[in-house]
Amino acid sequence: MKSSNKTDLRGKNVIEIQKLIPNEKPFRAKQIFRWVHSNGIKSFDEMKNLPKSLLENLSEIAEIQVPKIAKHEIDNETGTQKLALEFADGNQVECVLIPNPNGMTLCISSQIGCALGCKFCKTAFMKIRRNLTAGEIYSQFLVARENSMAPITNIVFMGMGEPMMNFENVIRSADLLNHPDCGNISRRKITISTAGVVQKIRDFTELGKKYKLAISLNATTDELRRKLMPINQKNPIKSLLRAAENHAKKSGERVTFEYVMLEGVNMSDDDARRLNTMLRPIDCKLNLIPYNESNLKFKRPTNTMINEFYEKFENAPFPVLVRKSMGRKIKAACGQLAKSVPNQK
Ligand code: SAH
Repeated sequence: MKSSNKTDLRGKNVIEIQKLIPNEKPFRAKQIFRWVHSNGIKSFDEMKNLPKSLLENLSEIAEIQVPKIAKHEIDNETGTQKLALEFADGNQVECVLIPNPNGMTLCISSQIGCALGCKFCKTAFMKIRRNLTAGEIYSQFLVARENSMAPITNIVFMGMGEPMMNFENVIRSADLLNHPDCGNISRRKITISTAGVVQKIRDFTELGKKYKLAISLNATTDELRRKLMPINQKNPIKSLLRAAENHAKKSGERVTFEYVMLEGVNMSDDDARRLNTMLRPIDCKLNLIPYNESNLKFKRPTNTMINEFYEKFENAPFPVLVRKSMGRKIKAACGQLAKSVPNQK
């Protein structure tokens, strides 16, 4: 399958659509925008209230790219669903629907693969293929919505890829997810998770959009963090914490720190003590994530170990939570997403 040269209407805003139909009245662009992003139409003839001639002209330069569902797995125990989507160039990404008390949380991908090479994450082993377009990111929402058993209430950019390395498209897609005529998901229920690209966190703060920020910390010393997450070489913990603190202050929003618990690696008393100290000045919460096993060399801590580590935060001034891993059975949990791509073993 080849990608075409036509403009994908998914991911385009009203102004961009207007530019494709310069001789039409502006309300036409708005209608098209809504059909594409709110209704999630898959073909031009579904746009019933638009003149045929307009649609014919538009179809010569534009199209609606609809990804194929390559695989659909359901974990009946938890109600978690994993969808593998294939784009026109044959590349695939995964997104995951996870039940929450009010509906569904959708975990979406921002890149095909990932360049950061975190040692505990399966996606890292795909390396980076390419960024997703805003339309491809938004398409994950449209497909998931069609397959979801409950309304999607939350979006987390915690699937494949590093959102901050595809900053513009991630923000564009978040804007669409948030837009009342499109995804209509509240800003506070859209979370962008980063391995810690400090400059991009600063850019995000400056941008002033009120999406939630999550930072994957995962270690309390630069020495260990460098080994686990190569991004730490250029983005050491101190500068990361400073950017996080600055973000919390400027945005007035609490930052989430994620901490993947790896048995025997980052769960010592000293780790807990350092974590308590370093997060204390920041308006934040801490999510402890038990490591989800794939065929990497780390070990998931036992429930006793998890509880013992958790209890060391008894007096912490910030909330601490152990994230339940949903969908481990279908390899849909954090760090387990790695869709096969062409030429990939
Ligand atoms: N690149 C972004 C988003 C994707 S990872 C980031 O790093 O934040 C989403 C979360 O899953 C991160 O907090 C990451 O630390 C965590 N994670 C990665 N691999 C994991 C694994 N094997 N088990 C549990 N959590 C994992």
